[in-house]
Amino acid sequence: MEIAFEERRAAEDLVATGRSLYERGYTFGTAGNMSVRCGDIVVITPTNSSFGDLRAERMAKVDLSGKVLGDAMPSKEVPFHVAAYEADPQTRAVVHLHSTYATAISCLRDLNCEDALPIFTPYFAMRLARLPVVPYYPPGDPALGAGVRDRIAGTKAVLLRNHGSITTGKTLFEASALAEELEEQAKLFFLLGSRGLELTESQVAELRSRFR
Ligand SMILES: [Zn+2]
Repeated sequence: MEIAFEERRAAEDLVATGRSLYERGYTFGTAGNMSVRCGDIVVITPTNSSFGDLRAERMAKVDLSGKVLGDAMPSKEVPFHVAAYEADPQTRAVVHLHSTYATAISCLRDLNCEDALPIFTPYFAMRLARLPVVPYYPPGDPALGAGVRDRIAGTKAVLLRNHGSITTGKTLFEASALAEELEEQAKLFFLLGSRGLELTESQVAELRSRFR
């Protein structure tokens, strides 16, 4: 497939996915950013853009080292996008949200930073091996990139401490669907409080071996 065509299609996918996430309340204001990898090019949402008002022709581009290509300024979170692609060559899309409940989990005083969310329902266990937490760094800090690269390998999502979530996928649809599932699971966690019955370790292991 010709690369320019692929980039154009990636930009259009970002527009449609951004609007859908925005309209359903998964993002707000100018929070969040997303990218799609096409060969050695990463098409990424521009800096200070709103998911509700993205334009395909204004999408930014970087290479896999994070170098800006073209005129549009990319999101300042380029370091963790390229880090996620570096961590897994199969990854073709990265979605970063400040969705309310997942972000609330990232701000909890007591947090299991190896695996932040208990498993209440089978679907989440099947989708995600674990949910590690990257230590806090200011937005755009290159250290955030290194933290994501080290923790996202072998799974498809991380939380950024006191910040939000990052999910990945082989397609943009897969990455955005996982971001939504993560948000719903985080919502369940707060709804249940101490009343939740978690799946047991053996139930989770059985699900993961059966559906992986
Ligand atoms: Zn952010």
